[in-house]
Amino acid sequence: MRPSDAAEISAVMAANALVVPRGAGHSTAGQAQARDGVVVDMTVLNTVHEIRPGHVTVDAGARWSEVLRATLPRGLTPPVLTDYLELTVGGTLSVGGLGGASHHHGAQTDNVLALDVVTPTGSLVTCTPDHNREVFDAVLGGRGRNGIIVTAMLRLVPAPETVQWHRLHYGTTSELVADQRLLVRAGSFDYVEGQLKIRDGQRVRELEAVSFTSASLDGLRFEESDTQVTSYWDFVNRLAAGEPVIRAAGLWDSPHPWCNVLLPDHAVESTLRHLESEGPELYSDFGLILAYPLLRDRISRLELPDSELVFLVAALRYAPEDATAMQAANEVLVQKALQAGGTLYLEPL
Ligand SMILES: Cc1cc2nc3c(=O)[nH]c(=O)nc-3n(C[C@H](O)[C@H](O)[C@H](O)COP(=O)(O)OP(=O)(O)OC[C@H]3O[C@@H](n4cnc5c(N)ncnc54)[C@H](O)[C@@H]3O)c2cc1C
Repeated sequence: MRPSDAAEISAVMAANALVVPRGAGHSTAGQAQARDGVVVDMTVLNTVHEIRPGHVTVDAGARWSEVLRATLPRGLTPPVLTDYLELTVGGTLSVGGLGGASHHHGAQTDNVLALDVVTPTGSLVTCTPDHNREVFDAVLGGRGRNGIIVTAMLRLVPAPETVQWHRLHYGTTSELVADQRLLVRAGSFDYVEGQLKIRDGQRVRELEAVSFTSASLDGLRFEESDTQVTSYWDFVNRLAAGEPVIRAAGLWDSPHPWCNVLLPDHAVESTLRHLESEGPELYSDFGLILAYPLLRDRISRLELPDSELVFLVAALRYAPEDATAMQAANEVLVQKALQAGGTLYLEPL
């Protein structure tokens, strides 16, 4: 169903047992599908409404790139962005929305001021942390099953014009993780992320540290560094260039058995070593492993491990055809994470 307004969503919710909203449809395990039910394509409702100094109101079907194209000319940005901007506001608010700035600002769900929601019975409700709070709490992180977000009022902060973007390369995973711990505890960089991958037969262990002003790399343990000054937009939109390359390789529409877990600090190194020991055939040419350090006390709406420092660890696998072996590998990752006191971020299976 392609709704023209919230009233049409209310009517379809009231009349059908299973109604599932779909944003950009990037979730990997059918979360935006409805067997024998109705799928509501939210991308047709994508207007960016009022922009104020501290907030913007947007339709939930807007992609984050569309939000930024409207707010950046006013010098404003949402404080937390996912790496890929072609995800919808409703799609990421229904799972959390974590990024390199989450160690400062939490998840995207921690930066929402108000929502208009169609509840499962078809009522259109405005909710905030102080008003209709049960709806607000249920729908943020609710996987689209506790109501449909129609509009969201999102917090905005000043956007820098340029950023210093450091890519630091490490000889060992332990050194990379040690520096991530150091950086997020110090809070000196605006973005901290990390990834492990094999490119041209070489293992790459990379920490991305981004500063909106300028911050020191003194005392870090990297072997090589690559620093560039780039516009804020080019930095936050950095994954866009990869899309045509992956499409050209025929891997955009093939299965992506991606697996995202949240690990307590004590389990991150052993889990990354396990993932690094998996065969390259479990990733294909474009696959990689992400490791994002987070501070537990900044994130309020996700089920997190009981640990001051938490790592989002993701195995991003691209299956040219059969995904069975990759799904089996994800099952092992999930079991390891749960045994170590970790939690699931996005359901992988
Ligand atoms: C290339 C890529 C990079 C990514 N990077 C990150 C990242 O950096 N950080 C991160 O946290 N995640 C990341 N993700 C994961 C992503 O946040 C989730 O998969 C997200 O749910 C996808 O958004 P979508 O618009 O495609 O939603 P869909 O896949 O369409 O829907 C996802 C879920 O949201 C529900 N939903 C959709 N719209 C609404 C709505 N309006 N109201 C209520 N529920 C709704 C759906 O029912 C479904 O359960 C990435 C995914 C991809 C493909």
